[in-house]
Amino acid sequence: MTPTISRFCDGCKKYARIAVGDGQVLACPHCHKEWGKLERVETVLDRCPICACRQFYTDKDFNQIIGFAIMGVGIVLVPKTYGLSLAVFALIDWLIYRKVPKLAACYRCGSEFRGFSIPQRLKNFMHHIGLRYDKYR
Ligand SMILES: [Zn+2]
Ligand SMILES: [Zn+2]
Repeated sequence: MTPTISRFCDGCKKYARIAVGDGQVLACPHCHKEWGKLERVETVLDRCPICACRQFYTDKDFNQIIGFAIMGVGIVLVPKTYGLSLAVFALIDWLIYRKVPKLAACYRCGSEFRGFSIPQRLKNFMHHIGLRYDKYR
């Protein structure tokens, strides 16, 4: 998987995703505003190439809404299938969840990093750390 960085561009306010490699200058595909420079793909998650922040968190890379929507359909079907659909949909939900890869995101600028090898030390989003970076967003 090619590593990509996704973020809301501070120049044009659009969400953009770019494929990245060693030594690449990062620029918005819409307005061409420069975001920063990526030195090496392996060290991206030590220091954010865009804002120089050193704190990242990891998350499952999928829209939670999809999971809720699947459960919602299961609940709607309950009266007809005597509850069996709930179990089936919970299983589908779980299977989808397991297949979902992880992403890493920068606490300060919110950039999302996909396709990078995520260091073990990265943890899920922690609210008290997020609060410290709120003013930058
Ligand atoms: Zn832009
Ligand atoms: Zn950042």
